[in-house]
Amino acid sequence: MISSNRYDNNIYNRCGKSGLLLPKVSLGLWHNFGSDDSYTNAEAMILHAFNKGITHFDLANNYGPPPGSAEITFGKIFKEHLTSYRDELIVSSKAGYNMWEGPYGEWGSRKHILSSCDQSLKRTGLDYFDIFYHHRPDPNTPIEESVLALDHLVKQGKALYVGISNYDADEMLYAASIMRDLKTPFVIHQGKYSLLERSPEKGLLKACDQAGVGYIAFSPLAQGLLTDKYLKEIPDDSRASKEVFLKSKDISAVRTKLFKLNDFSKERGFKLVNLALAWVLRDKRVTSVLIGASKISQIDDAIRSLDVPKLDIMELNLIDEILTDKYRV
Ligand code: NDP
Repeated sequence: MISSNRYDNNIYNRCGKSGLLLPKVSLGLWHNFGSDDSYTNAEAMILHAFNKGITHFDLANNYGPPPGSAEITFGKIFKEHLTSYRDELIVSSKAGYNMWEGPYGEWGSRKHILSSCDQSLKRTGLDYFDIFYHHRPDPNTPIEESVLALDHLVKQGKALYVGISNYDADEMLYAASIMRDLKTPFVIHQGKYSLLERSPEKGLLKACDQAGVGYIAFSPLAQGLLTDKYLKEIPDDSRASKEVFLKSKDISAVRTKLFKLNDFSKERGFKLVNLALAWVLRDKRVTSVLIGASKISQIDDAIRSLDVPKLDIMELNLIDEILTDKYRV
């Protein structure tokens, strides 16, 4: 059932200088939406998110497991519940990581990007993506070729807007300059950014701002590290328990900082997850935090982050001290 109150909280930010508004919290389908996962849970999470005003869902050709199956799951949920809401949704997908055998199954050639988008459209059953990304720069393909392939998708009506992901500042500015000449609607860069991953502050965020492009921050919770779930142990149903994308050694390396950040949050009456997301969104160059979730309650936690009062300069300095180990109790 779709809620008639879904837009009451008006949780949208403008994406760079474009006309596109994105929710401050977007939902990514990298984990927990494959055919190996519970369909009922995936369906409940997507509908819950939409009912809370989360209009943006992020996919990629290879999300699963197995690869491709998150797009199939999303397509089924869309067909069953959301077809009449197509114009209220921003669905993105990506090409670039390894997806099929042979020399065209990954990276940034025109062949890969155009074929991969066709496959993704088929798996989701959508007529077009709202945003289609090149997922990672390809050191062996000229940026012009990858960018022209994205531009072609727009001209074919298969993408309304395009984005790039994991490019560095110079690569992004170069891609932006080509797209400006082509008048391609390049609106967004997708990159990692969190309290534990601050490399975009070294130039990428500035470059996006300069190019008028929005920044959507993926893994803003550092895959769950920036929550209270790993403070004591590694729960059996957590991502870290699988020891694939998040490993127990990653947790040991930062546990002391997590304790301090958790105390900082609790003293102010909110959870660590709320601090982590509010902190990323404090930067006006960030359009949206792109979270993952394994449970509906995690989506609610993320939305509650929008109620965290603005962090003042003293608080921001204290957080920096905690992160740089200068903080002493
Ligand atoms: P997050 O950093 O938000 O981590 C999400 C995970 O954290 C959840 O799956 C859950 O893990 C845990 N979690 C979330 N909320 C809570 C909570 N309230 N309490 C306790 N644990 C919580 O993001 P992801 O790493 O999942 O990435 C998000 C999206 O970003 C992806 O789905 C994808 O769309 C995109 N992405 C893009 C990349 C790119 O190269 N462009 C690369 C990576 C991601 P658990 O299963 O343990 O419950």
